[in-house]
Amino acid sequence: MPDAFADLVGQDEAVETLRRAASAAAAVLRAADGPDTTEPTGSPDGSDEGDGAAPGIDPGAGMTHAWIFTGPPGSGRSVAARAFAAALQCVHGTGCGTCPGCHTTLAGTHADVRLVVPEGLSIGVNDMRALVLRAASTPSGGRWQVVIISDADRLTEAAGNALLKAVEEPPPRTVFLLCAPSTHPDDISVTIRSRCRVVPLRQPSAEAVAEVLVRRDGIAPDVARWAAAATQGHVGRARRLAGDPQARSRRDAVLAVPRRLTGVGAAFDAASALIEAAEAEAAASVAELDAAERAALETALGAGGTGRGAAGAARGSAGQLKELERRQKSRATRAQRDALDRALVDLAAFYRDALAVAWAAPVAPVHTDTTDLADAGARKWQAEGALRRLEAVLACRSAIEANVKPRIAVESMMLALWKG
Ligand SMILES: [Zn+2]
Repeated sequence: MPDAFADLVGQDEAVETLRRAASAAAAVLRAADGPDTTEPTGSPDGSDEGDGAAPGIDPGAGMTHAWIFTGPPGSGRSVAARAFAAALQCVHGTGCGTCPGCHTTLAGTHADVRLVVPEGLSIGVNDMRALVLRAASTPSGGRWQVVIISDADRLTEAAGNALLKAVEEPPPRTVFLLCAPSTHPDDISVTIRSRCRVVPLRQPSAEAVAEVLVRRDGIAPDVARWAAAATQGHVGRARRLAGDPQARSRRDAVLAVPRRLTGVGAAFDAASALIEAAEAEAAASVAELDAAERAALETALGAGGTGRGAAGAARGSAGQLKELERRQKSRATRAQRDALDRALVDLAAFYRDALAVAWAAPVAPVHTDTTDLADAGARKWQAEGALRRLEAVLACRSAIEANVKPRIAVESMMLALWKG
């Protein structure tokens, strides 16, 4: 049976919370629209407990105007936010999945649902101001204006302040759904956090992920199980790994690294290969979009015009093209970092597998297809050596996050992996 929450894997508790909130939200709308009700529309936190409240409202589980979805990457933060948006726009219930409200929200075409996906390294203040302004308008569908901000941890400080103003004094029919790894102050400002209700998501189990790959994407069960384990419960990555040969060969190349580290030269070669693979993957992922954006802008600017005013227009368009190039460069940097980080996560999991073997820990391996290598590594390095290598990979991730040049960080990691 279709359901707006169907793709939110292994998050029963969160789904329950969100359904209750959606039903409270629907009651708020009914109370506002009802011709003979004398009940106010209800406070945003659903604390109206008057005896005139619509039946079925649980005051403690009510609706509020600002939410934060937290959880590890791949746990489905933005999937949850979008499903909840659908439930709020659902005209039949709390996310039936088939009505026009659900359908257009899930397809990304609902007029009252805006999704902000940061493309560069952060979400800028101008984008946020424009968004906040539009979010304040009356919902055209008569229900809610929903603004989803995926990666709210990538807001600039100024953008965060613009958002805070809106969250502090929310328009009556506007709902903000923020997604962030955690509610740590590094991820989300304390003041924004204090205005939001938090929905924690957990890392779904490999079984739950495999099940959805089989059911939704028609992937063979054994492939689904392997991909779900290898990507550690990351639904999106698991689907890509199961279906995309390039994603598989990239992973194979990463998992070949430990065998290749036979000397200093080999360590530097491995570092270059890893960096270049991330660059190539990133370039491929943004190339099409870059070209389409540039073509669209050039068309809008009337490229090649020679008429009156063309010189002035050309000066203006040079500025716009420069701005586009700046945004595209920022997006490419972000894509490279993300690609490199995925590779490092795979590599870290390999050393984690070796460590688990060395300790004889009763946990399933992440990479079920490299268990022989992990066994050999465990024998050679012992637990201590495996742990040191695992730490070297994690240190590399932290260094890159702290803006150390990726090549420097990866070279240093490869040397540490070789020396042990
Ligand atoms: Zn619906």
